[in-house]
Amino acid sequence: MTSTPTGVRRALSDAELAGLFDAIAAATSTGDVLVATINGLYTALLTDLGRTLDTFGPDQRLNPTEFAIPTSQWTAIAAAATNRADEWGTAMTISINLINAMPSSYDDPTVPDPTPQLPDRRPAIHHLRVSREATDIIAACTEHVTALGHRFGLGSDIYQRAATSWQWHLTRLFSMGSGAETSITAEGHLSLLVTNASGFVYAVIFHRDPRVCTVAGCPAVIGDDGSVSTTPARPVAAEHEHQPSYPSDAPTPGEWSAHS
Ligand SMILES: [Zn+2]
Repeated sequence: MTSTPTGVRRALSDAELAGLFDAIAAATSTGDVLVATINGLYTALLTDLGRTLDTFGPDQRLNPTEFAIPTSQWTAIAAAATNRADEWGTAMTISINLINAMPSSYDDPTVPDPTPQLPDRRPAIHHLRVSREATDIIAACTEHVTALGHRFGLGSDIYQRAATSWQWHLTRLFSMGSGAETSITAEGHLSLLVTNASGFVYAVIFHRDPRVCTVAGCPAVIGDDGSVSTTPARPVAAEHEHQPSYPSDAPTPGEWSAHS
């Protein structure tokens, strides 16, 4: 008969933590970081059961929920692993994998907070490749925001929503969270496609506000050509002249959002 592992719940020693942090720092790829983190953690904890990772396989799978370390150590280990991954823009991938593979955590205020070295691992240069069509779209987006400000006022909700969403996405193009090699191409009217070297792809899409009727209870949507459409389920309110939420000759209100 083989004994069933019952798991281990304890704080890692300073030496175990130091070894783990060293192994993470020495990793040279995203996969290496995951292996170093998971192997280091379970090699340490399984020692208490007189076992090693080699004794697990398809027939007997290791169950991470049977193991637990203090929350402060869990957080510091995850921080060290994602920090290492900043070199390749894969911190998000590492986080998702670690959440499923790391032991559980428990609060223990008597365990001191570990202080791993977290140097800036990002490459020195972010290389952006921008197609000429995309440069035109970026300029057009900024011009569109400016036009909304002229038409509706800098204090208007229409201008504020457009300006803040465009500024946020424009700034995100330069961020290095998904790596230091990014390609930006056109994705239609006022919209861009962003491809990161780490494999992450997303679109920045301008969503125009529907031009609705502002009369209470009226479900009418008014097209650029003045045509009126309604949802069949909701009848138009009492006879009235529709009041469009913005005029047909105005720059189109809306905001940018990301879709991956
Ligand atoms: Zn109406």
